[in-house]
Amino acid sequence: MTCRVIAVANQKGGVGKTTTVVNLAAGLAEMGRRVLIVDLDPQGNATMGSGIAKGSLATSVYQVLLGDVGVAEARQPAKEGGYHVLPANRDVGGAELELVHELAREARLKNALGEVLGEYDYIFVDCPPSLNLLTLNGLVAAESVLIPMVCEYYALEGLSDLVTTLRKVRVAVNPKIEILGLLRTMFDARSNLSQQVSQQLARHFGDKVFDTVIPRNVRLAEAPSHGLPGLIYDRNSRGAQAYLTLAAELTARLESATPSLSH
Ligand code: ADP
Ligand code: MG
Repeated sequence: MTCRVIAVANQKGGVGKTTTVVNLAAGLAEMGRRVLIVDLDPQGNATMGSGIAKGSLATSVYQVLLGDVGVAEARQPAKEGGYHVLPANRDVGGAELELVHELAREARLKNALGEVLGEYDYIFVDCPPSLNLLTLNGLVAAESVLIPMVCEYYALEGLSDLVTTLRKVRVAVNPKIEILGLLRTMFDARSNLSQQVSQQLARHFGDKVFDTVIPRNVRLAEAPSHGLPGLIYDRNSRGAQAYLTLAAELTARLESATPSLSH
């Protein structure tokens, strides 16, 4: 199986990007897939949420972006869950500034990942909550983007900025990139607003909207403080079960589909 590189992006913070990344990683690893998370967020939430202390990193995605070490040297196994993490901490914010003066600054991650593509079935890039050079590195490295979102009043406006960015990325640096899917997170099925936004999403994005919705679930929110994906922290919780369903929907979408030329 060829490696799928998926950027998980939304310039809004707190929409469930990191939660989605760590739980999909754990879910797919459980299904026998080899998974790497690239943490591109200086907050290092995917790193800590995988049980890796971000304060004591010898090497991080920072050195990788600057070309000082390879991915194979900087990655680490998650504490539990059977996946790997290319970890991040605050230093990565500095990499963004230093990269501005480098050649091929937006393709640094893509080039670095080449070394390990054969070792993984899925690589998830957890992007920071902005459309900066770090996120751009994620979008250039990826073949598709998964967009977590909360069904709030302004959700669609935020999405149009991201869609515009994707269009520019497609024209300028990565003609392949497509939207893998939109994921509704922290979903409250009883709220009218959730239902209305869902209908608008379906109108704009059609079957790009994942059937699976992730409910608001406190167990998912508790898990990171234990350094674990929710899926491992409390497997029977509604949130964990939803992410297992999502992992199955994702593999069905990606692994059974015949290659298409359109996007
Ligand atoms: P992002 O990476 O987009 O900033 P996070 O995944 O860190 O978002 O989620 C933001 C906060 O909401 C975190 O505290 C996280 O634990 C919590 N959270 C994420 N998904 C859910 C959910 N489905 N139900 C309840 N809390 C959630
Ligand atoms: Mg995050």
